[in-house]
Amino acid sequence: MKKLVVSRECTACGLCFGCFDFLKEGNDGKAVVENNGILPANVTMNKLQEVINNCPVNALKVENFEYVKSSGTKGVKELLGIMRKPLDYKLPSADFYKFNNVEIPIPYSPNEHRYIYKSYDSAVSAGLDEFNRIMYSQRVALIQQVVIKYKNDILLPYVRLENKKGNYYYGAINEAVTKMKAYVAEIEEKTGRKLALPKNFYDFKVREGKSQKDMFKLFETYAIDQGWASSIADGLDSLSEYRTWVDVDDTTEYVRKSHWFGDDTYEEEDRYCFKLRDVCRELAKDINFQCHLELDTMAENLVNGSVKYFFGELNKEWSEKVKLVENLIGKI
Ligand code: SF4
Repeated sequence: MKKLVVSRECTACGLCFGCFDFLKEGNDGKAVVENNGILPANVTMNKLQEVINNCPVNALKVENFEYVKSSGTKGVKELLGIMRKPLDYKLPSADFYKFNNVEIPIPYSPNEHRYIYKSYDSAVSAGLDEFNRIMYSQRVALIQQVVIKYKNDILLPYVRLENKKGNYYYGAINEAVTKMKAYVAEIEEKTGRKLALPKNFYDFKVREGKSQKDMFKLFETYAIDQGWASSIADGLDSLSEYRTWVDVDDTTEYVRKSHWFGDDTYEEEDRYCFKLRDVCRELAKDINFQCHLELDTMAENLVNGSVKYFFGELNKEWSEKVKLVENLIGKI
């Protein structure tokens, strides 16, 4: 069997990330290899060699690998001992799915940048009214949109199995399949015989549990529930507290003055306009913060519950497959 190894020389240049299915960025920015680097039998070696050659510090290499050193029956027995252990898993770090800034579109007002106000205060008051009209009064709907986006874009891969890259459960099943294939390949190497495995032996049928689906449904219900979004909105500042964020600009205009006793004159007068970008951004930031306070614990409970259930079921299937392998070995 072959194993891909990343050495300490890796400088975290990122050149190899995504070039090969197994290589990705670790928490420290350096390359890490999934599945302990054990390569599936059908790996395209040419492509992998190209990635290895492109590493500027020669930090990647392929090594021969065996789970156990002993050969023959002794080796097979040792190997079965390892296979009987349940698959290890780590709960995903909350950093991956915790509520982090979800982008909220900043609305545009056609009334900004119009130098029509005669005083600074009147421009601020008009700006605050306009901010209320285009964004603040829509805050409950905005919170609902944010929660739905968070649920679909960030949380979903950690609570629902979907057959696509980036999905936590899909990755776990692929890892289990690669591991099982590697164990079986080593058993076959040690016995010198091919195991007559059923056609669908490497298929895992595990899915999310009913209670996990129900929990996720509850999250969906929350996401679209107006009362719940309103309770998040209650944590926001009042409209008047956003007054200080309304930006005002001024200019000088020459204004024509008519006099009943003679010719018109022109006099300088200040004119003011409001700008709403900063105040809208501030509200978007506050909405994100309130959502983070409300959603993080709920998401963590949901994800942890889902992952524990999933691995419980995955391990049941795993041990059934190991028993089948044992039976087949007995028949060799
Ligand atoms: S190309 Fe080499 S140095 Fe760069 S991240 Fe990959 S392993 Fe590390």
